[in-house]
Amino acid sequence: MPNSQLIRPLVRKLHPYVYGEQPKIKGLIKLNTNENPYPPSPKVLAAIKAAVDGRLRLYPNPTAQALREKLARLHGCHTDSLIVGNGSDELLALATRAFVEPIPEGRVIRVPNRKRPGTRRARPSEMIQYFTPSYSLYPVLADIHGARKNPVSLKPDFSLPGVAELKRDGSWKFDAALTYVTTPNAPSGHGYKTSELEKLCRAQKGVVVLDEAYVDFAEENAMRLALKYPHVLVARTFSKAYSLCFQRVGYFVGHRDLIAALHKIRDSYNVNGLGQTGAGATLEDLKFYRANFKKVIATREWLSRELTKLGFRVFPSQTNFILVQPLRFTAQEWLQRLRAQRILVRWFSFPEVKNYLRITIGTPAEAAALISAARRILRNQACF
Ligand SMILES: *Cc1c(COP(=O)(O)O)cnc(C)c1O
Repeated sequence: MPNSQLIRPLVRKLHPYVYGEQPKIKGLIKLNTNENPYPPSPKVLAAIKAAVDGRLRLYPNPTAQALREKLARLHGCHTDSLIVGNGSDELLALATRAFVEPIPEGRVIRVPNRKRPGTRRARPSEMIQYFTPSYSLYPVLADIHGARKNPVSLKPDFSLPGVAELKRDGSWKFDAALTYVTTPNAPSGHGYKTSELEKLCRAQKGVVVLDEAYVDFAEENAMRLALKYPHVLVARTFSKAYSLCFQRVGYFVGHRDLIAALHKIRDSYNVNGLGQTGAGATLEDLKFYRANFKKVIATREWLSRELTKLGFRVFPSQTNFILVQPLRFTAQEWLQRLRAQRILVRWFSFPEVKNYLRITIGTPAEAAALISAARRILRNQACF
């Protein structure tokens, strides 16, 4: 296979990110990728439509200036503390390149192993750290960059281990170059208190990214930590809470030195113009979205209660999805049986979550359809 010789060994061995399915089957209820069930506000749709004309031939603003100015007002920070990305995914990737040294080629790194003394540890400057389970993109970004991964387990109920506990255990590295924390957690939905995140941030020497993709559905957010500590960045996105996945707009807030480093290495025109327009218009109509958050949260609580009544174990959620442990069949079988009933949910094969399903909160009608399908599945089984 001569072509494979043209590809860097690191890239040849990569396992890419596994996307949630985006099927175009009519009538399918899609509860698998945490998209918002409600469309963007009419004002946002109008703003995007109004921007579609001959101006599409022009480059968009390279720094998303107008959008950053609106975000600065919203968060009470300077525009220099903000960078907008092609989705927050782009910024998460830029963070690996700005803050982490790749392991030099040829130096083999193995997990330190008592049985094999002499295997070398990666240097802290080469380490990307995160809790498991959390956003499954982080290990992929570490692999792409050629960094060393340090996944450390959350507690069994998906709560954060305390700093003292992490110190006692020893596997968490307080000097890792980059730490990602999904807060509230995905895929469990578990929410974290800002006070406990602050303790963790204070103990870290490297950069900490608090990935708040779902924070609008939560009780607390940790934005003040990004404004207080020079090594803490908060990641936000217009995708989930603001119904704008299609447009790809996310941003980081943090110290201007870190933000300036990210600006240096981003593409010149990394945020497309219609995305900037849509996100800007979104910030003019936050009332519309706050009403949506309330609806999603109410449906989440209803669905959680109904699934609990059917015998599912439902983890408490502060997001727009719930993690559930099904009964009778394995989670993977439930995935298939629900699909046969035209309902698509998400199942991850990772060991920590393979017994669970992740279900996005849809409309009340979609949630009711899920409950009916689950009842049918459980009833059919009783016949045999
Ligand atoms: C969806 C998601 C993102 C990415 O959002 P985009 O802005 O669409 O790239 C980041 N982090 C987590 C935890 C997510 O679930």
